[in-house]
Amino acid sequence: MSEGKIQLVGLSFEELEQWTLGQKQPRFRAKQLYGWLMKGAAFSEMTNLPAAFREVLEREALANPVRIERCVKSKLDGTEKFLYALEDGNLIEGVLMRYHHGNTLCLSTQVGCKMGCAFCASTLNGCVRNLTSGEMLGQVLCANRHLSETAPGEKVGNIVLMGSGEPLDNYENTLKFLRLALDERGLNQSARGISLSTCGLVPRIYQLAEEGIPLTLSLSLHAPNDGIRARLMPITRSYSMDQVLEACRYYVEKTGRRVIFEYALVRDINSDLRHADELAHKLRNLQCHVNVIPLNDVPERNLRAPDTHTVQAFLNRLALRHISATRRREMGDDIQGACGQLRRHAMEEMGKPTSGEE
Ligand code: SAH
Repeated sequence: MSEGKIQLVGLSFEELEQWTLGQKQPRFRAKQLYGWLMKGAAFSEMTNLPAAFREVLEREALANPVRIERCVKSKLDGTEKFLYALEDGNLIEGVLMRYHHGNTLCLSTQVGCKMGCAFCASTLNGCVRNLTSGEMLGQVLCANRHLSETAPGEKVGNIVLMGSGEPLDNYENTLKFLRLALDERGLNQSARGISLSTCGLVPRIYQLAEEGIPLTLSLSLHAPNDGIRARLMPITRSYSMDQVLEACRYYVEKTGRRVIFEYALVRDINSDLRHADELAHKLRNLQCHVNVIPLNDVPERNLRAPDTHTVQAFLNRLALRHISATRRREMGDDIQGACGQLRRHAMEEMGKPTSGEE
């Protein structure tokens, strides 16, 4: 059981060193332990630690707080979807995408989400709780271990915070996770290989710009104006599109990184050529790229993707208006690749409630 135990994955190296010294261990022990933890190893596998210390670890501490409960692999493109179990029994999900340029892992940052976007399955039950930095890091460790067993020599190369949850609504844990992922003594991830996707919590975007982590900011825009955006995304009531775009402009200035706008095309709502024109006008002079994504249908809400012709016409129109845009490749179409879908199905199977307020 995990009660009262200290969670070691998620501690910074310095914090781990303090804890290890407190256990009357020599300083170099922390380095050994940290190395093992970042490999996702269990205490029993840490063979160069003295048996007595391993006993202390078993009794007092926890290593990876995340484990893969289920894994589904796409027959179409090799994409793998993980259902992870947390220590308290909550379930979260993640996706491992195998691109030519490397492996990209999509992480969750909360159990559920409270942002209420009309098209998103993650938010249907509200937000249950924030994930800790260790639970975010733990997802990467699980995926790396899974890769070492199934594709020796491969590792997670890129990390996208695009799973369930709003990362900027769980700011401190997300930042601690990012700093851990960048730590040279651990995963040694490059900031350029990290994308953070947000529905646009404006004050947090300004704050993120000051952190000195040049990651890619992905902004879920999904509309060319406030009227349409408000129908899809309740956050529009707190921050207008102008405020969001101003914050993005600041992010570009401060970090030198272009911003990626996510734009899910929804039939009869935001996929007209006049919407493309309006979007292009709003994004002029902003260093950005638009990812156009045909919506993953949400039949319960009668929200559907437009036909392929409309998608292509939208893309062509953006190109004509000198806006860099591509259609995002849909991965894992046969395995419920979209946010929140697998967790929802698993919870239904297990007889856990999947609707109603939290
Ligand atoms: N909360 C963050 C990250 C999680 S969602 C955010 O809002 O960006 C990851 C991306 O998937 C977001 O761009 C989100 O808008 C998009 N998304 C959610 N449901 C979708 C659906 N049914 N079809 C297409 N994209 C969807």
